[in-house]
Amino acid sequence: MNKKLYVISGSSGVGKGTVLKEFLKRNPDFMLSVSCTTRSPRDGEVDGVNYFFISKEEFKNCIEGEKFLEWAEFAGNFYGTKKKFINQCLEEGKDIILEIDTQGALQVKKQMPEAVLIFICPPSPEALEKRLRGRHTEDEETIRKRLKIVEEELARAQYFDYKIINDNLDNAVSELENVILGEQKNA
Ligand code: ADP
Ligand code: 5GP
Repeated sequence: MNKKLYVISGSSGVGKGTVLKEFLKRNPDFMLSVSCTTRSPRDGEVDGVNYFFISKEEFKNCIEGEKFLEWAEFAGNFYGTKKKFINQCLEEGKDIILEIDTQGALQVKKQMPEAVLIFICPPSPEALEKRLRGRHTEDEETIRKRLKIVEEELARAQYFDYKIINDNLDNAVSELENVILGEQKNA
């Protein structure tokens, strides 16, 4: 069977979004899942494009209504992937990519063992912190919350199918291409 669902995960600030954006530029036929979140939009983020920004109440209703394929609390906010869009893409035979946290990635693998899990690693803990701070999108408290969980996230890397070190950006994008296009060839 063709493997159609790819999950990209790794610590906040490691460069998941940056690597993925480049990958999608080169491979525009892949669908990117848009998650729901209870966090506030950052400057420039657009509802329905970057995330569906919803209230805690709405999020709770989605959990109770079993609308999520997976969901997790990450550093004080809730994030989840709606089943509907994923199932629709898979039924239409489209390749889909999820960019989600490590807890969510393992939930997806449990439910869909054929999903391909890709973990993006930082070249060093120092580089990760520098990138997270250098992005200037979070306040100090949020940065600390995110850095505090890096070790437990790295410990989950062993359950992933592939690990890619995002040191040089171009190399990381090429590695991601090799992994995904290789999986498609072998499917
Ligand atoms: P994530 O999506 O994993 O939270 P981002 O994609 O937002 O991370 O990247 C965090 C910061 O690191 C951004 O400012 C981005 O420009 C920078 N970055 C991403 N990849 C690299 C890289 N290979 N080398 C240096 N900086 C990078
Ligand atoms: P950010 O607030 O920086 O956009 O995202 C924080 C973390 O939440 C990142 O690791 C990101 O991949 C993850 N995330 C985004 N969407 C989802 C989702 O739908 N489910 C889960 N479990 N994590 C998500």
